[in-house]
Amino acid sequence: SGDSYYLRDKLAEKYKLHPDQILVGNGANEVITFAIKAFCEAGDNIITADKTFAVYEWVAIFSGYEARLVPLKDFCFDDEGMLAQIDARTKILFICNPNNPTGTYWNQEKLCRFLDRIDGKQIVVVDEAYCEFVEKEDFPDGIALIERYPNLVVFRTFSKMYGLAGLRIGYLAGSLEVVNIMRRACVVYSVNTLAQETALLALDDPEHIQRTNTLVKKEKAYLYRELTRLGLPLVMHEGNFVMIKLPISDTLAYRQLMACGVMVRSMTGFRYPNYIRITIAQHEAMEALIQALEAIL
Ligand SMILES: *Cc1c(COP(=O)(O)O)cnc(C)c1O
Repeated sequence: SGDSYYLRDKLAEKYKLHPDQILVGNGANEVITFAIKAFCEAGDNIITADKTFAVYEWVAIFSGYEARLVPLKDFCFDDEGMLAQIDARTKILFICNPNNPTGTYWNQEKLCRFLDRIDGKQIVVVDEAYCEFVEKEDFPDGIALIERYPNLVVFRTFSKMYGLAGLRIGYLAGSLEVVNIMRRACVVYSVNTLAQETALLALDDPEHIQRTNTLVKKEKAYLYRELTRLGLPLVMHEGNFVMIKLPISDTLAYRQLMACGVMVRSMTGFRYPNYIRITIAQHEAMEALIQALEAIL
């Protein structure tokens, strides 16, 4: 299906939306381009954070638009800082909730207050790539807010919780008016059949989310104990990842950990020099990481 008809239908039913309020892309990476292409023209700008998923900034800059990067505040998106950067040429504000790589989030109250202040004047994208990992009561469900805020666009992906990154499938949801505009920038046939069918099946496996979150919680507690024992500062909030601050260069650590069979993300490229990011996985992998870290340090 060139427009992922059956998947949009199923997602619409799940979220109580109209199927035309959803656009499926070749990963959430592609839907970022739909939003920017649809709403920006020469001279426009987008606003996001300096230390977040870098693709919003990259797509904007490569497309010839200005990206205004507001520094995180206590590892968290700074709402006031972002509002202060808005001018007449600001078209989209991107918020990553919870933030990759710091795991911090805006709660329902903070997100709604921000959307009230924007008052429909710009598009607000809330990227919820990691929302299935968040169990906090006050974590907002962006999709449920679309009816109240027609300028709100929410991104989701099958790459993280569902582990389907290699199949490349993600989507956006928004009001009919806004999605009808973004559809003009949408590439049809960019999502393959296998990805569409697998995503449909993944939605029918809610126990997977439960099991994964149980594992993540347990292994986060293990990492917290072990990294504290090693005296390594860590940034650990929501999501299935943890940032660790090393007393050595992260690119050197990356190479040395690779030689021990452990692959981590070096964070210099995310503007966090000397940090690495770990994805939470099975206990054996976490033990191997701690052993390797101890050895290289
Ligand atoms: C991984 C990720 C995406 C996009 O992932 P896709 O594999 O392209 O679906 C988008 N936003 C954030 C914050 C991510 O971490």
